[in-house]
Amino acid sequence: MPKKRKLSEIRKKVENGSAIILTAQELIDQVSEGKTVKFEDVDIVTTATKGLMSGLMGIFSFRLSPPKTLRKFTEVDINGIPTFPGPCPNEYLGIVDLIIYGTTQSQTIDNYCGGSLFRDIVEGKQVEILAKSAEGETIKKEMRLADMQFAKLAGTRQAIKNYNAMINCETYNVDTIFSCLPFSPNKSEITFSGCGALNPFQNDPEFESFGVGSPVLVNGALGYLMGPGTRNYIEKPNMMTIAPFEGMKPEYMGAFKTSYGLEPICSLAVPIPILNEKILNNIVKSDKLVKLTILSLVGREKVGEITYGDVWDNNFLMKFNPDACKNCEECKAIDKCPTNAFIIKNGMISAIDRSRCFNCGNCTHLCPEAFDLDLKLVSFEDTAVPIVLRQSDRYGAIKLAEHLKLMILKGEFPLRKPISKLQFAQTIK
Ligand code: SF4
Ligand code: SF4
Repeated sequence: MPKKRKLSEIRKKVENGSAIILTAQELIDQVSEGKTVKFEDVDIVTTATKGLMSGLMGIFSFRLSPPKTLRKFTEVDINGIPTFPGPCPNEYLGIVDLIIYGTTQSQTIDNYCGGSLFRDIVEGKQVEILAKSAEGETIKKEMRLADMQFAKLAGTRQAIKNYNAMINCETYNVDTIFSCLPFSPNKSEITFSGCGALNPFQNDPEFESFGVGSPVLVNGALGYLMGPGTRNYIEKPNMMTIAPFEGMKPEYMGAFKTSYGLEPICSLAVPIPILNEKILNNIVKSDKLVKLTILSLVGREKVGEITYGDVWDNNFLMKFNPDACKNCEECKAIDKCPTNAFIIKNGMISAIDRSRCFNCGNCTHLCPEAFDLDLKLVSFEDTAVPIVLRQSDRYGAIKLAEHLKLMILKGEFPLRKPISKLQFAQTIK
């Protein structure tokens, strides 16, 4: 008889303190140490991912003027980022509803996009709103999250079931969202995205444990899975979620500067209740079991295949050693951190802001003396090609999976059945 348990039984175990919850990383570590994890050994596995998620948008509603004064607001910028006011015109109410995309760049602040703004809002910083009414009147207002009536983050395409590695097969440099620096030519370097064995969809390939309406953690705040996201298909499922900015943690979000502009960062964690042995069997036990396709950057043809075990191997955290810094006349790395994580003193990098560091490895690639991270070499066409950038932060994802585990153990995260199963397209039309 295949073993199974009900969600209500897991909830009871959480209540009486006997539930066994493992993060996906803990499970991988136990298996790599030779332990067999049986059905009796685990009730819930927490999965997570942290990466660049282009389809993010903030949805806000707040008052800009007293009622009965202005008809409606037709243009609204926040910290210089143009927004989309509407769809509710709210005539003569003085309130504006608007959407702001995570990828939109500010017209007044350098290296600042919607992703930067979302993090500032969560940090409680004051933001500057510049609005124009239908009558042509201009309103300037400063506001914080606490002043806003409604502030939520939605994503159209999140937690994609892992992604790809990129290599530039052309003979020229390419500016691209897949690299911080211009992508070097002639198959000389590789970048990749995806948290491998920690990814939620990777661990639930049959969509049995989470679905429409499931509670999820978005940047550390309790949110909900709305359904499949854009451009989804069965082999590359993704999700749409919504969550309040209130309760999010800045370290899980922000902006990442690529050589083709800024991209917003987002982190998601999803619990997988182990309701039967099949669900446990589907939990990924090693990164070596998750394929990673290498694509040609220009044209996106498949040119190779490795596994996430070739790129993730307990090499999650970048370490900075200030004593190893040679105080070069011209620092190669100082203005090249894509998340602004360097703390600069007297014109030198003195420390790393850990709440901003994405463990991407760009600094290590530029200065292996002062920045320590095993970025790995990948065998490609009989050559060892170096990885120069990671566009997913496995270390951050592990932290979020641990955060979710603690929340469940403390009874702060609801365990609920989905309203319905996720349905994905068979192919992309
Ligand atoms: S961080 Fe590296 S490149 Fe920059 S000054 Fe120190 S040793 Fe030189
Ligand atoms: S690994 Fe280095 S370059 Fe990357 S985010 Fe951290 S400090 Fe910046």
